[in-house]
Amino acid sequence: MREELQKYIDTIPAVRDVSQLKETFWINEKKIPNAEKEITMLRPEQIEDARKRLERFAPYLEEVFPELKETHGIIESQLREISGMKDFLNTAYGAGIEGRLMLKMDSHLPISGSVKARGGIYEVLKHAEDLAFEAGFLRETDNYRVLAEPRFQEFFGKYTVQVGSTGNLGMSIGIMSAKLGFHVIVHMSADAKEWKKELLRNRGVEVIEYEDDYCAAVEQGRKNSETDEMSYFVDDENSRNLFLGYSVAGERLQKQLEQQNIAVDSEHPLFVYIPCGIGGAPGGVTYGLKQVYGDNVHCFFTEPVHACCMLLGMATGLQDQVSVKDLGIDGRTDADGLAVGRPSAFVGKVVEPVLSGIATIEDKKLYDLMRGLLDREDIFIEPSACASFAALIRPKDLSGYVEKAGLADKMKNATHIAWATGGNMVPEETRKAYLSMGLA
Ligand SMILES: *Cc1c(COP(=O)(O)O)cnc(C)c1O
Repeated sequence: MREELQKYIDTIPAVRDVSQLKETFWINEKKIPNAEKEITMLRPEQIEDARKRLERFAPYLEEVFPELKETHGIIESQLREISGMKDFLNTAYGAGIEGRLMLKMDSHLPISGSVKARGGIYEVLKHAEDLAFEAGFLRETDNYRVLAEPRFQEFFGKYTVQVGSTGNLGMSIGIMSAKLGFHVIVHMSADAKEWKKELLRNRGVEVIEYEDDYCAAVEQGRKNSETDEMSYFVDDENSRNLFLGYSVAGERLQKQLEQQNIAVDSEHPLFVYIPCGIGGAPGGVTYGLKQVYGDNVHCFFTEPVHACCMLLGMATGLQDQVSVKDLGIDGRTDADGLAVGRPSAFVGKVVEPVLSGIATIEDKKLYDLMRGLLDREDIFIEPSACASFAALIRPKDLSGYVEKAGLADKMKNATHIAWATGGNMVPEETRKAYLSMGLA
């Protein structure tokens, strides 16, 4: 396979760089103005449908998760300005950030402490609703609080939910499915952290461990599920439902920016940086943001050097027909949420006309950024989430994009949002270990 890829290595500088395990900043030349309206694989009404479904479930979620009392069952995170971190990036990395730097704290999302609490939980709720509708036990106009009654747990208990995961998706699917009463099996790849498996087992989730990577865990989960007609497989490689769950973030972010009196328009561009594994989370968020802000939002994905699957798939145009392993890259990274070697089969195509670019980052920098954020802002996020700063610490490449987009004189009015995708469930001991990583 490496031979077949040689022509891409020879002709596309970003592919050459990733093949040499260099940090890379790829600008998407296929981006088209106003293209979000022309995406046909999904429709904006589907975001609306997802938003309404989450609202229907809110009374149930409020009932069964005490941490959702305050928001009345809505799973949302804070958007916080981090000027101390901006100072750190400008000083330690010469980032030259002019406008405002903010953190979207999905690291602190209730229930499962990562961005997967958007897509993962949404997909489980959708499946539960489908089953309950079909059985005639629930109607759209009911107060969904009834789902907390034992008769529903009994009902869902006849069904199984399965998922393959590097950790965080398993946490969201596992916790939510178990709460509803499903039998749930999480197939965990070798990258998954021990504490996540433990936490799930303690909540009654069946965890099956694999020596192999993420794709292998997904494959086995899919096979297992196919042999059982009562089983539903959450398919991270293809799922539209996961994607739509993430995309609801677009409108939610718009509300938060409005509440904080932060303008986004042609004079005030918005830059958003989202860590990418298989692509569902950053793809869904990007799709949602593009529907709201169109050309005034500039979305970048970020990946570890060793798991640069989306960059490889998009830059070559091969999408899911290529794996980082085909380039001899091992896919191993401490950013466990991003340890994916082959991108989603459909996300790359959906975001192709709207994505601005992809930056990759070395693992050792993730720890430095983690310490910087903790020192300056007193916020802890996990290694995967620290990748959200990958593009900001490459000021030359970023200004190349900015100049081409004709935004150079507007950057002092810009808002940058680093999407912190996980962290607050990391146990104290693991945090300490992370914080001492890479120090001499
Ligand atoms: C899953 C995950 C991502 C990326 O989501 P994908 O859908 O795999 O692209 C980013 N950060 C963290 C912490 C994650 O768990």
